Amino acid sequence: MKREVSCLKSGEFDLLVIGGGINGCAIARDASLRGFKTALIEKDDFACGASGKSTKIIHGGIRYLEQFNLNLVYEALHERGTLLRTVPDLVKPLEFIIPVYKGDPRPLFVMNTGVFLYDLLAGRQNIHCRRPLTKAELAGLEPNITAKGLKGGVMYCDAQMDDIRLCLNNAISAYEAGCCIANKIEAEGLVKREGVVVGVEARDTLTNDRFTIRAQCIVNATGAWSNRIVWDDEPHAAAITRPTKGVHLIYKKLPITRPMLFSARKDKRIFFAIPWRDYTLIGTTDTDFTGSPDEVYAERSDVEYLLNEIGRVFPEQGISREGVITTYAGLRPLMNTHGMAPWKVSREHYIKESGSGLISVVGGKYTTYRRLAEQVVNLIVHRFPGREFRACSTAVCGPTQEIPPGDAGLRERITHAVNEEMANSLKDLLIRRLQLAMTASRGLDIYEEAGRIMGELLGWPTSQVEYEIQAYKYEIRRNTECLT
Ligand SMILES: Cc1cc2nc3c(=O)[nH]c(=O)nc-3n(C[C@H](O)[C@H](O)[C@H](O)COP(=O)(O)OP(=O)(O)OC[C@H]3O[C@@H](n4cnc5c(N)ncnc54)[C@H](O)[C@@H]3O)c2cc1C
Repeated sequence: MKREVSCLKSGEFDLLVIGGGINGCAIARDASLRGFKTALIEKDDFACGASGKSTKIIHGGIRYLEQFNLNLVYEALHERGTLLRTVPDLVKPLEFIIPVYKGDPRPLFVMNTGVFLYDLLAGRQNIHCRRPLTKAELAGLEPNITAKGLKGGVMYCDAQMDDIRLCLNNAISAYEAGCCIANKIEAEGLVKREGVVVGVEARDTLTNDRFTIRAQCIVNATGAWSNRIVWDDEPHAAAITRPTKGVHLIYKKLPITRPMLFSARKDKRIFFAIPWRDYTLIGTTDTDFTGSPDEVYAERSDVEYLLNEIGRVFPEQGISREGVITTYAGLRPLMNTHGMAPWKVSREHYIKESGSGLISVVGGKYTTYRRLAEQVVNLIVHRFPGREFRACSTAVCGPTQEIPPGDAGLRERITHAVNEEMANSLKDLLIRRLQLAMTASRGLDIYEEAGRIMGELLGWPTSQVEYEIQAYKYEIRRNTECLT
């Protein structure tokens, strides 16, 4: 995948997508496959927003049942089936356990009924593993969770994914289908002709070069940043998104064999402990966020909340801040709803067309990205009467599943990331292409060497190599300073 700045400058596109999260990349892929002349710009890097900060599960969302949001659960469960079928190397079925304790906000019979309904809604897409668990069965399966107050539990199935890789692979597949695509290009403003949006003023953040990208149709898929583009289009419009922050801890490996879902005592929210690579992923929080979407980090209070809740279930594991390897925080670009508790805001997606023709998408879950993209591109088809496009093919043909081999030498892996996957900064490389920032070493054992190799490949002067190293260290520090 090559960074196509010259084609962005000279092209006249049918469609320009702003934002390289999962939604933007999937829209660009679907549109390119159908035959639209498509471009996608991302101001930083693919999956640097919410799409690289998720809980990494492809799920119907069992908790949305208690909000009676059956449509959302049904749609997500069917999309789960599609992704399991079309991207089997990146989306894999997984057994989950819900232990229920005395005093939990959702009693055992409610959990059993919920999971039954969940599987029923999945219909033919159901992954069969549901069974009620007695206290003794549960203690046999997971002997390291506390037995104090344990009433029993239930097992059910969902799926786990690699969020960063799935997003990146959608970008690569869009490129392979003919999309002109580039990271490190920011949309700074909209260009209008007679009140109709016809392009964007863009800035190449690597060179500071400014230019116009022309397109008949513009999609704003900028997640938690969406309000900025909406207000550029309609200065007096209501905010389209109300971002909420979610924090995860990457904890040293806890002795559990399956992902578990618990009810928090403090606020009754559901949270997870998930075996993930050599660690346990613990999360998440859900709090309103009003700061800059470019600076989202875990705070001490987020860490305390998660450690307190998980410590209650694992009283003998000495749960403490010392066990946390690192943290990550992301913003859910939820639909703007007033006065509702953050975790009660609907996870449905919302597609808005403004008077100038700008299409904005917010809300939704990672799980439903393919469906959202299909709906957006269906909408765009109507903007081109008389033109023939191919039908949507993403429900039968998933994005590439290729993952570069992890056992290749460092230089080889970096060369691949730079030449084939558009890694343009040390953060792109260590956080998202090699995913080393989320390991015990946090990439701090190789960042200097990696910086030098990248510098050679990209022709960076020494000062740039030093800048990249400092920027990477800053990111690691911001993700871990809440642990001190
Ligand atoms: C903590 C957390 C846990 C979650 N867990 C799950 C889960 O387990 N399963 C699930 O299904 N869903 C989950 N979600 C929801 C899911 O991650 C999001 O719905 C989804 O990733 C949103 O994708 P997006 O493409 O809309 O936004 P983003 O991924 O945020 O992408 C927006 C992109 O736009 C770019 N951008 C912004 N402004 C500009 C500009 N001016 N010019 C160019 N580019 C710009 C940004 O850099 C960013 O990369 C979770 C979300 C969070 C925050």
